[in-house]
Order: sequence, then structure tokens, then C-alpha cells
Amino acid sequence: MDDRQFRTAMGKFATGVTVIVTDVEGDLHGMTANAFMSVSLSPKLVVISIGENARILEKIKQSNTFSVNILASDQQELSMIFAGQIKEPREVAFDRLDGKPVLAGAVAQIACEVSAEHVEGDHTLFIGKVTDIHLEDAEPLIFYSGRYRALAEEKAVTM
Ligand code: FAD
Ligand code: NAD
Repeated sequence: MDDRQFRTAMGKFATGVTVIVTDVEGDLHGMTANAFMSVSLSPKLVVISIGENARILEKIKQSNTFSVNILASDQQELSMIFAGQIKEPREVAFDRLDGKPVLAGAVAQIACEVSAEHVEGDHTLFIGKVTDIHLEDAEPLIFYSGRYRALAEEKAVTM
């Protein structure tokens, strides 16, 4: 099986889009990620998966904290900035939640402390203990088959 077939298959799993942000002594760094999942309700845990070549990897290890920002449908540009898809540097303003940097306007801001990390293949999984959450009433940005999308109108489900 080649890499393209694997990525094409994984891309068939429609996801939201997050920006992971971490703060190493005032140096704020963000990265776009869709490998994000809720893990446990008691205690409240989430997981993110960071590639071995991503610059944010060492920064999360140093800070031991991160935020997950679930992007709204009007925040595709932020996704592109933090995925390196927009090359010119852009000034991005951050808010704070429980002391961690977060992105204003995100559908959900989730502040986390690293509770465990596991190297698996070419990625590191960080388990985050959720310390605070802020929610906004907005539609999410969607990623499917390598393209940004928006949610369609709800269809009535007949059983
Ligand atoms: P860089 O390449 O150094 O940073 C990324 C970009 O963010 C740069 O352009 C940088 O200028 C900008 N940036 C960072 N901090 C700031 C700041 N404070 N202010 C302004 N700009 C800033 N990779 C994974 O490992 N896991 C995933 O789950 C994942 N999911 C993805 C989902 C999508 C939809 C996309 C498009 C990409 C995904 N990627 C994922 C790939 C990842 O986003 C890119 O490879 C990214 O460029 C790697 O980030 P980096 O830490 O190396 O940071
Ligand atoms: P794509 O076709 O490369 O990605 C489709 C799906 O494949 C992704 O949603 C993800 O589930 C999986 N995938 C892609 N690259 C991966 C990797 N290196 N490790 C594990 N899973 C991976 O979509 P695209 O629009 O070309 O993506 C833009 C860029 O972002 C690419 O360079 C891609 O590699 C990267 N990306 C990385 C991850 C990740 O590391 N988990 C996830 C999404 C996108």
C-alpha cells in the first residue's frame, strides 16, 4: 500500500479543524491539526497527534501545556496560516483561557495540561487533561478529502 492510498482513505473521514497552540515562556506557536479526539469523561481527557518533524512537538514537551481551538467556518484563513499554507508571516492575536493562549472566535477553546505522551510510528500522541473550556455559538470549519468545507443544512432523518 502506498502513502497516497493511505492518505486518500484517511481523508474520507470528515473532521473539524483545530489549531493547537502552546506557549514556551511567552513564545506562542500554533499548528493546524485534525488528529484530535475526546478520550475520557472522568477524568476529562483529549488526545492530539503531532508529526515528528513538526516544530510544535518540542515546544509542547517544554511547556507541558497546550490549547485546542476548534475553528469556526469563517476561520479557514487561520487554518491555512497555521498549516504553513500561507507563506507570508501574519500577525495573529491570542486571548487567554486558564493562562493558556487561545484563538478568539473558535467554536471551542480547550485548555489542557499534558498528562501523558506516547511515541507511535512517526507521530507523538499527547494526552491532555482539560483544565478549562470556552464555547462560542458558531458553525464549524470542516476538512474532507483534502479540502475545506462547510456543514450543509440538516436533513430530516426518517426511521
Ligand atoms: P511551522 O511550520 O513552524 O508553523 C506552521 C505555520 O504557523 C507557519 O507558517 C508559522 O508562521 C505559523 N505560526 C506559528 N505560530 C505563529 C504565531 N504565533 N503567529 C503567527 N503565525 C504563526 N500535522 C500533524 O502533525 N498533526 C495533525 O493532526 C495535522 N493535521 C492537519 C490538518 C489539516 C487540515 C492540515 C491542513 C494540516 C495538518 N497537519 C497536521 C500538518 C501541519 O499543520 C503542518 O505540517 C504544519 O506546518 C506543521 O507545523 P510546525 O509546528 O512544524 O510549525
Ligand atoms: P492529505 O490527503 O495529505 O490528508 C488526508 C488525511 O490523511 C488527513 O486528514 C490525515 O488523516 C491523513 N494524513 C495525511 N498526512 C498524514 C501524516 N503525515 N501522518 C498521518 N496521517 C496523515 O490532505 P492534504 O490536504 O494534502 O493535507 C495537507 C498537509 O497536511 C499534508 O502535508 C499532510 O501530510 C498534512 N496533514 C498531516 C496530518 C497528520 O500528520 N496527522 C493530518 C492532516 C494533514
